[in-house]
Amino acid sequence: MSKRPTKFVFVTGGVLSGVGKGITAASIGNILKARGLTVNLQKCDPYLNVDAGTLNPREHGECFVTKDGAETDLDLGHYERFLDQELTQSSSLMSGRVLLKVIQDERAGKYEGEDVQIIPHLTAAIQDYIIEAGKGFDVHIVEIGGTVGDYESLSFIEAIRELGLRVGLENCLYVHVVYLPFLGTSKETKTKPAQNSVRELRGLGISPNILVARSEQMPVESVRQKLSLFCGVEPKAIAMLPNAPSIYEVPLTLEDTDIAEVISEKLDLKVKKPDLKAWREVVKRAKTKHKRSVTVGIVAKYMDNQDTYMSVFEALKSAALWNDTAVTLKWIDAEKLEGKKADMAKALKGCDGIVVPGGFGTRGLEGKIKAAQYSLKTGLPYLGLCLGLQMAVIAAARNAGITEASSKELKPGAKDLVITTMDGQEGKEMTGGTMRLGDYDCKLQKGSIAQSLYKQDTIVERHRHRYECNNDYRDQYESWGIRASGVSPDGNLVEIIEGINHPFLVASQFHPEFKSRPNRAHPMFDGFIKASLR
Ligand code: GLN
Repeated sequence: MSKRPTKFVFVTGGVLSGVGKGITAASIGNILKARGLTVNLQKCDPYLNVDAGTLNPREHGECFVTKDGAETDLDLGHYERFLDQELTQSSSLMSGRVLLKVIQDERAGKYEGEDVQIIPHLTAAIQDYIIEAGKGFDVHIVEIGGTVGDYESLSFIEAIRELGLRVGLENCLYVHVVYLPFLGTSKETKTKPAQNSVRELRGLGISPNILVARSEQMPVESVRQKLSLFCGVEPKAIAMLPNAPSIYEVPLTLEDTDIAEVISEKLDLKVKKPDLKAWREVVKRAKTKHKRSVTVGIVAKYMDNQDTYMSVFEALKSAALWNDTAVTLKWIDAEKLEGKKADMAKALKGCDGIVVPGGFGTRGLEGKIKAAQYSLKTGLPYLGLCLGLQMAVIAAARNAGITEASSKELKPGAKDLVITTMDGQEGKEMTGGTMRLGDYDCKLQKGSIAQSLYKQDTIVERHRHRYECNNDYRDQYESWGIRASGVSPDGNLVEIIEGINHPFLVASQFHPEFKSRPNRAHPMFDGFIKASLR
């Protein structure tokens, strides 16, 4: 552990939302870690939710789960993949969590009769969370969600301004990510919105040390001079970040600018020569035109926001690239498979394999079961992720003649609940925090496909679910053509099932996608891609 004080890098955004603050923060982390520093990342989000578990995945994208079971924003997935590091609850802070803490402290009398206020009490509480998350790291990078000037994120901005005074300005650096629009008619990159945004940030008491300027294409050099003059930031502290074909290129683009040097100098960091060899490999792989390709059908519920399945896509891409293969994703609307007349062969035509990802609620479940039934019968490779395991178990039971097999989530009163609530959870299904979340051990059966993929006897994977395989039916699995090839250490919970005499039907109760990395294919996805190639 480092004895030097933790240095803080704050990343704010201006002009527009969605310009890539998260990727910028993660990329800065990547190039600093490549210099031998220990780095943590944290996202501060202005939502009043206490965590991301209750946010709508359609609007907000995937809920990413950390090893300690925190339900967080999808940006944490980027952070983990760019840092190749497992994060914890402390890396995700939403307004709701801090407000709840302050109000609980007030009720508990901890403020000893003081007037409890946004400033200094709420802002101090935010700083406490930030300082705590940064403990033990050389550099702690904090991304502030939203756009500067939003009413919602004002207390976070004020908190990071005050934090500069609390820990010393020499230990803090502020990065502002702006967007430069391009006017097609006059063929000009415009800097005015960026200037306004920097002025807005200054008005809130923060002068950015670094500007990261996002744009569609690389602007001409004079744009940097103009930004420098009007925004008061040195030219070498301005990084141009035009659109990249792969997000994994962003660290390398930033590496080619001077900002790592600006950061090291300003924060007086003791850095080594950057080692980006492995990362360059990742980018090279991502940019190679591969001769082989697989088409993977994603049997899903949300068809209009790919962010909902972000980590699944990343894991598929990573595994495909590791097999020198290009991957095409084919969206299959699970609901459309439900009708009696739905033609499975036609709907899944052209797919070399299918994935049934995680999900909640009843919509599209019958369609997912039918897809799994089809895969069991035809040998089409199948990868089930959490809900995908549950649907595969129901499918196997139904194929074996248990026509009323169902899950408690889909049909609570069904005769054969092959998927049901785990012991002790009955009656709490609707309340937050009752799920099995985060890391759990899983024992792999000798000689199983799962064991041959992982090449280990015990694995640790992340969970997020309420329902489990009903143990009353486990002794029937063989006769349904499946087996439980991974179970909890006490044998009580089914963690992985696989098809017997099936080329590749593997499904897990956990979410392997969260532990996949761009620089390391995950065994489950690797196995699935290999099977789909065959
Ligand atoms: N809805 C299912 C459950 O709660 C599956 C959850 C998931 O896929 N993450 O168990």
